[in-house]
Amino acid sequence: MPRMPNVKVCIKEGPGKVAWVEMPLPDPGPGQALIRTTLSSICGTDMHLVDEFPDIPAGVPMGHEAIGVVEAVGEGVERIRVGDRVVAACLTSCGSCERCTGGDPQVCSSHGAPMNLLFGGQGEAFLLNGADFSCAPVPDGLSDRDAMLVGDILSTGFGAIERAGFREGQTVAIFAQGPVGLCATIAAKTYGASAIFTVESVPERIAMSRRLGADQVFDPETAVEQIMAATGGRGVDVAVEALGRQQTLTNCFRVVHFAGTVSSVGVYGGQEQVSIPCDGTFYHRRFVTTLCPTGRGRLEHLLGLIQQGRLDATPLFTHSMPMSQVVRAYEMFRNREDGVLKIALS
Ligand SMILES: [Zn+2]
Ligand SMILES: [Zn+2]
Repeated sequence: MPRMPNVKVCIKEGPGKVAWVEMPLPDPGPGQALIRTTLSSICGTDMHLVDEFPDIPAGVPMGHEAIGVVEAVGEGVERIRVGDRVVAACLTSCGSCERCTGGDPQVCSSHGAPMNLLFGGQGEAFLLNGADFSCAPVPDGLSDRDAMLVGDILSTGFGAIERAGFREGQTVAIFAQGPVGLCATIAAKTYGASAIFTVESVPERIAMSRRLGADQVFDPETAVEQIMAATGGRGVDVAVEALGRQQTLTNCFRVVHFAGTVSSVGVYGGQEQVSIPCDGTFYHRRFVTTLCPTGRGRLEHLLGLIQQGRLDATPLFTHSMPMSQVVRAYEMFRNREDGVLKIALS
């Protein structure tokens, strides 16, 4: 007999549309955990999945950011127990394939990327694949909001800085201060950047950028000249592309000095390809990119930093709504109403 015959969950109803519906949720299979959601949110990637990706069919449960309490575990799950409060990784992993054991569980080959994305986090409960490796218990002292973002955007923002080989005391420019860009700003601050320049034009995002660590925020129109001026013509050590546009990627190359690094984490939705400038100094800079780093160890690392008081991403939750109003929340997020960054859905 099914443990939880029906749950309410947000699904992709069709291109550009989501709906709050009731659907059956089976018992957890081998390696899976059934998690009763206590907090979820909407991510920019959700918009791409709903609007653009034809291989995400209608009826698919949405949501890949979630915290909840383990209600049941399937065969073979050993590292988490019923009753644990856990934060899920947005990309699940098996823990045993070549990529997982090689340190890149976000591109786990057991499910075939991109389908190792977590689905169903925006619902009353969801099934998590590879539960031993795809979630981490939340330490007692941390609230759901404290811990929530480590599974996705906080890890991406930190990954943008870490993959660039950033060292304490270096200078950083971050193009766009949406949720991921703001997380990169938090990371640059946490790891001890000597100067953080951000690029943004939306007033609420400019204010949030300053609050989370930016020393100066520049308008996109004049950012390249201003960053070069602010660094005495030298350029920064690390530039992060957090928007997913050709122009901002090009601008990143223009503000990074020789031997510096351009780090790209923006989602170039709808673009077949992007190009990088090769004006004779192409070889002088490094270029790195990353999917959101995941895996249990990654979650534990970020939770540890939060526990130590080294970062606080909770200001990103600008709004909160009941999970049952998720359709309205999508509309708000899509239209960027009222300066919204992250909506806490519970
Ligand atoms: Zn996401
Ligand atoms: Zn794997």
